Amino acid sequence: MQCIFCKIIKKEIPADFISETDTFVIFKDIEPAAPIHYLIVPKEHIQSIAHLEGNHKEILASLIYGARDEAKKIGLKGYKLVFNVGREGGQVVDHLHLHLLGGWQNDGDIDHRKIPL
Ligand code: AMP
Ligand code: ZN
Repeated sequence: MQCIFCKIIKKEIPADFISETDTFVIFKDIEPAAPIHYLIVPKEHIQSIAHLEGNHKEILASLIYGARDEAKKIGLKGYKLVFNVGREGGQVVDHLHLHLLGGWQNDGDIDHRKIPL
C-alpha cells in the first residue's frame, strides 16, 4: 500500500498545491500550525532524515532551497523549517517532508514552545 504523500504526489488524492518541480512538490498542510504552513515533499519516497542515503544529498538540498525560494516568493521575512524524525520526534507521515512555517507579524505573535509540531 502506498503512503499518503505518494498518493498526493501522483494526484490520486487532492491537496492544495503551491508548486511542483522535477524533484519535489509543495502543498499546504491540512492542519496548519502557523498562518503559512507548507510541506516540501520529495517525489522519491524516502522515509525520513534517518533513512537518507549517500545519493540523497541533492534531494535534501533541493527541499531546503525550495522552501527558501518559496518563502522569498511570498514575502516571508522570517520562518521556521522543521524536519520531524521518527515517532519520538513527532513524525506521523513516513515520507520525508520539510515543514515551512511562517506568516507571523513579529516575534510577539508566536510562542515558539507552543507550535504543535
Ligand atoms: P509530521 O508530523 O512531521 O509527520 O507531519 C505530517 C504533516 O502532514 C502534519 O502536519 C499533517 O497535518 C499533514 N498532513 C497529513 N495528511 C495531509 C494531507 N492529506 N494533506 C496535507 N497535509 C497533510
Ligand atoms: Zn511516500
